[in-house]
Amino acid sequence: MKNLTYFLIAIVFVGISCDSNKEGKYNIEYTITPNIKDSLSINVAFKYKTNANGELNLNYLNNSMGDNDIFNCIKNLKVYQEDAKITFVKDSNLIKIKSKPNKELEVSYTIKQDFNGPLFNQHRYRPIISKTYFHILGVRLFMVPEDLYTSEISKASIGIHWKGIGDNDIFHSSFGYEKNQKLNVTEENLHASFFIGGDFRRKEFLYKDKPVYFVTRGKWKSFIDEDIFNLLKETISFQNDFWKDSIQTSFSVSLLPTEETNRYSIGGSGFSNSFISFASNNQFTGLKNMAWLYNHELLHKWLARTIKNENEVEQYWFSEGFTDYYAHKLLLKNNKITLNDFINTLNTTISEHHKDKINTIPNSQLTFENYWGNYAVYQKLPYRRGLLYAFLIDSQIKVKTDFTKSLDQLMLDLLKQAREDNTFRINDKEFKKLLLKYLDENALVDFENYILEGRPVDFTSQLFDGLIIEYIGDIPNIRVGITSNVKQLKGQMKL
Ligand SMILES: [Zn+2]
Repeated sequence: MKNLTYFLIAIVFVGISCDSNKEGKYNIEYTITPNIKDSLSINVAFKYKTNANGELNLNYLNNSMGDNDIFNCIKNLKVYQEDAKITFVKDSNLIKIKSKPNKELEVSYTIKQDFNGPLFNQHRYRPIISKTYFHILGVRLFMVPEDLYTSEISKASIGIHWKGIGDNDIFHSSFGYEKNQKLNVTEENLHASFFIGGDFRRKEFLYKDKPVYFVTRGKWKSFIDEDIFNLLKETISFQNDFWKDSIQTSFSVSLLPTEETNRYSIGGSGFSNSFISFASNNQFTGLKNMAWLYNHELLHKWLARTIKNENEVEQYWFSEGFTDYYAHKLLLKNNKITLNDFINTLNTTISEHHKDKINTIPNSQLTFENYWGNYAVYQKLPYRRGLLYAFLIDSQIKVKTDFTKSLDQLMLDLLKQAREDNTFRINDKEFKKLLLKYLDENALVDFENYILEGRPVDFTSQLFDGLIIEYIGDIPNIRVGITSNVKQLKGQMKL
């Protein structure tokens, strides 16, 4: 009986694999085998044809997301059975293979973690491969043949087969938990994904019939899994309602503990149908910090991943600044923070921005090279600048429309535009056009001054009744006036 079962399984398995080859339904198939217990590595194998000149060029980003020298993580790149010359061209994010023309090559390589010692938040985008688990981003896992994608919006059909994951280990990814995955994705969506395996715990809930997964590991010190799981539930539901959106297939969130001891550090990144998150596992990480992080990262589903930037860093005032503003605004709308919390955030941002030595550099200096090359210096600038400017125009639209509209309507307009045209990208011109729909010509001057020129936002006579500005030294500080109708003010701020 036992033998027969094996036999039947073998038949079914062969049947499926023949089928897939016959139909040729994939543009490429990757077989991925983590060997974490033995060699702390992940092996990736695929087959792909050289061009008429015998070349197979593979894209793999050496520097991205603030990380440098990712090529250090590649070990044992091999081409089987054929003679091949392999060249690593770090500066061009390229691995060049030269072999016979039009020949299907069998390629394999291994990815290893390239840092030692404890896991800190600063490592969050690098391959993390320990003895009990791995956490790796698509952009760090896949070498992508140069001709697989012809444009930013073209899609490829990709098969991914995960092997050797233990029965007691959890496997999960931005694309769900199946170990045989069939994707039809853009290069951006393949890159912006996560894959985890090992000693994780998985929880799941349904949002309008679509599964939302939460995976985490370790023993949390300042909260329990359930706290973050509930936070995720609330955030998913509130934000999807706000954007009048739903989940297409599934949504996945990972949370990893990091090992800072005397301070807290949290961070994450919004990906395809998913986001990743990291938090210091110590008493300094509170649920309020996590609520901000989860609101911020989930918002990237719409701001950055649906309404896309024309030139990544140049529009960070929008994709990070407006995202941060809305993270706080939605927390206020959902009664998760008080009016005072909200105003304190504005004041902290004003004060930190005021003290920032580079606070007046023009937006044109926020280039990819400058920003990521001097991350410690530039990091917060577009977040703060965008947040304060978003609050300014939110207030202006409310006053101008006698509190019938707010920045929310402008954001929903933008989303509609991005959904209807997948080549739409946010830039100065598009944003100015929308501004004129809600405000007058002065708004264009403000945009030039505060975003493009980088002058500090002047809130004098810009706030609505009930809020006043005081100066602490030379730093403006917003507060609720003594005679203000706080209830009405709260309603107006939430609008
Ligand atoms: Zn962000």
